[in-house]
Amino acid sequence: MSSQDLADQERLNSDWQSHYKENDYQILGTVVAVQANFYQVKLQKNSETEYLLCTRRTRLKKIGQKVMVGDRVIVEEPDWQDARGAIAQVLPRTTELQRPPMANAESILLVFALEEPTLDPWQLSRFLVKAESTALKLCLCLNKCDLVSSAQQQKWQQRLQQWGYQASYISVKRQLGISNLLERLKGNITVVAGPSGVGKSSLIDALIPSINLRIGRVSGKLQRGRHTTRHVELFELPNGGLLADSPGFNQPDLDCVPADLAQYFPEARARLQTGTCQFSNCLHRDEPNCVVRGDWERYEYYLDFLDKAIARQETLQQQPDQEPSVKLKVKRSGKSQYEPKLQTKKYRRTSRKSKHQNLQNIYEQQLREEIEDKF
Ligand code: GDP
Ligand code: ZN
Repeated sequence: MSSQDLADQERLNSDWQSHYKENDYQILGTVVAVQANFYQVKLQKNSETEYLLCTRRTRLKKIGQKVMVGDRVIVEEPDWQDARGAIAQVLPRTTELQRPPMANAESILLVFALEEPTLDPWQLSRFLVKAESTALKLCLCLNKCDLVSSAQQQKWQQRLQQWGYQASYISVKRQLGISNLLERLKGNITVVAGPSGVGKSSLIDALIPSINLRIGRVSGKLQRGRHTTRHVELFELPNGGLLADSPGFNQPDLDCVPADLAQYFPEARARLQTGTCQFSNCLHRDEPNCVVRGDWERYEYYLDFLDKAIARQETLQQQPDQEPSVKLKVKRSGKSQYEPKLQTKKYRRTSRKSKHQNLQNIYEQQLREEIEDKF
């Protein structure tokens, strides 16, 4: 995030704080978990951290205001005894990620291993391009440096420098670089991303001394949700800040517009800053007088990702926008007529409601147990 963005954010917060003087009735908090229609909100009460199980005011539902993990919210009527409250307002978001849904994340901690699994430049580039497309600050971390020689590490360092990246080299096993990393993450909402096996879980354990600080966890019967790309698990960092882990950050699909792709390669970005292609809609393939085409290492990845982005766009264009909202019904008389399609939701209303009630009970019970465990 640029310093301008940061200044904007601070102004925004102070604007809101002046509108909403915190008092016994209204308190500012951060949503740390979402399950069914319940929100676990972290608040400060007399410099103590408290968690309230909140619902969303009907007014918010009516205007279609969603509440996401990471949202800063105004909680009304906090009931400290029962640890409950109601979300009355969602503050404007600085960033928003869709898959998984996450608000106000400031940076991405992208973790790869130098060995086991061997660092694959193509796969790393996929994650880097995805990270660049989010506009979040990127912190690239290369783990397992205990498995390579310093010469090998240096080679990667130089190679990545050519790409436009400066990585942190760490070893969770040897506890190298952990405290520096902790310092970099301080006070931020950071999402952890990277393929499996690179040491993300080990790193989270090393950064956070107590597993009890895992706050956005679901357990028991709700465990199933953990593996979906929509699930976000949050961890509280010892020096302040939140770390979000989700399967959704570990399977990047490159869904960018072909024309934007070059902006997600620092090498191409630099070329476009110092020169201009002859055609304003240049895709940097074989167009004449293109400033991006050239002998930079990842140019072939650019072409590969571009082909995929174009193919994806073509598939999207061939698909009808929406499912038809009417269906052809043949009546007993043999006459056919179009009728509006019934929403499956409506059919299920009653059974859903009771299912939901169960979920509420399970979830409330679990949250309460977890919160009690913690204090
Ligand atoms: P995740 O799938 O990204 O969460 O990876 P894990 O945290 O489960 O780690 C995968 C494997 O790598 C485990 O066997 C870890 O013990 C191992 N591992 C993690 N960090 C290091 C490291 O710094 N050096 C070495 N040699 N192994 C590590
Ligand atoms: Zn070009």
